[in-house]
Amino acid sequence: MHVDCIVIGGGAAGLMCAATAGYRGRQVAVLDHANKVGKKILMSGGGRCNFTNYTIEPHHYLSANAHFCKSALSRYKSADFIELVERHGVSYHEKTKGQLFCDNKASDILNLLLTECEYAGVSVTTQCSIEKVAKISDKFHLQTSLGQYTCDSLVVATGGLSIPTMGATGFGYQIAQQFGLACTPVWASLVPFTITDKWQPIVNELSGLSLNVRVTCNKQSFSDPLLFTHRGLSGPAMLQISNYWRPSDSLLIDFYPDGDLAEQIKTWRSQGNKSELKNLLAMLLPKRFVESWLPDGEGSRAVNQYSDADISRIAEKFQRWRVTPSGTEGYRTAEVTMGGVDTQGVSSKTFEAKTTPGLYFVGEVLDVTGWLGGFNFQWAWASGFCAGQYV
Ligand SMILES: Cc1cc2nc3c(=O)[nH]c(=O)nc-3n(C[C@H](O)[C@H](O)[C@H](O)COP(=O)(O)OP(=O)(O)OC[C@H]3O[C@@H](n4cnc5c(N)ncnc54)[C@H](O)[C@@H]3O)c2cc1C
Repeated sequence: MHVDCIVIGGGAAGLMCAATAGYRGRQVAVLDHANKVGKKILMSGGGRCNFTNYTIEPHHYLSANAHFCKSALSRYKSADFIELVERHGVSYHEKTKGQLFCDNKASDILNLLLTECEYAGVSVTTQCSIEKVAKISDKFHLQTSLGQYTCDSLVVATGGLSIPTMGATGFGYQIAQQFGLACTPVWASLVPFTITDKWQPIVNELSGLSLNVRVTCNKQSFSDPLLFTHRGLSGPAMLQISNYWRPSDSLLIDFYPDGDLAEQIKTWRSQGNKSELKNLLAMLLPKRFVESWLPDGEGSRAVNQYSDADISRIAEKFQRWRVTPSGTEGYRTAEVTMGGVDTQGVSSKTFEAKTTPGLYFVGEVLDVTGWLGGFNFQWAWASGFCAGQYV
């Protein structure tokens, strides 16, 4: 079977690229090895898909080449995707910090993409394993579990390695290497941390508790909720900072991010307050947290009995907690893969491989990783749309 364009991978970027090319009159086939396309869309955003963000800037993305994402993000903006969402009658809301979620279900977004593909005449085939890819003269030849295909343009939209049970593979990196493109090192990101040192029993005891923090690592900070888990630290603040963390780095965590705890305790003391320190702190922070976080035996005295040195020591413990995660939960739970196909080998305008005319890479398979908050889907939409103009 010959088509103008084959897209390997029916995820966010692949479906967007396919529909865009289909509308240009190209005959497009999407091939996916999973039993269903768009599985990550369905599980995203807690089942409600955080499909974009009102504010998308290049500094929300990490890549060995920080400039690569700029062109596509400026040509396909969040407003463009919001317009598509509204045109399909999908209702949505802003949750926090510009993050847009479906009111109902993430399947609204997948259905929107599949409808677009249908209107654009795209064929979508699942349970199709690609066994071999070769370029012979100016055509790509694909040997698949469903037979032979040839095409003029081949788009690799196979995503990253996170959640292998959802069909994630490193196939895109293999294709890149086969055609002479480099890949940057990859690792799991937007991922919870594990703690195995002396803090383990404490985080385990606090498991389930969530509170707002400011976390800093490698000169990057985020103010968001932290969630203690049995095995370590999770929640948006931890997922965000995981993009900047490298093994053996420590995290600096402030549990009272909007104030100065030492000053607050001194104010209580100067007011002649006779309440126990732990009860006063429990007005600012969850009681369960205060009780296990206070150094042994501290907190039971009246606040007017604390010296400046005591106060500094206690405030430091709440506002400058330094912890070194032993690792992360890895691809099993990570939202994204950091690294991927080296963007030096790919055109930021067309997404075509510089080594191989007709071969394109879009979405997460590329070395472009966004923050938590709808940035990764916006990259999928933008890169898929832009490549769709050329394939
Ligand atoms: C739990 C979870 C929640 C997330 N929530 C959000 C969110 O709310 N907002 C956000 O912006 N981002 C979120 N993300 C990240 C987002 O899902 C990805 O960045 C995005 O899906 C990447 O799109 P993609 O098309 O490049 O890859 P994918 O969506 O991963 O699609 C890749 C497709 O390729 C197919 N494939 C893989 N290998 C092969 C092969 N060898 N042969 C054929 N087909 C293959 C897969 O089956 C899949 O259908 C979340 C991720 C996870 C895991």
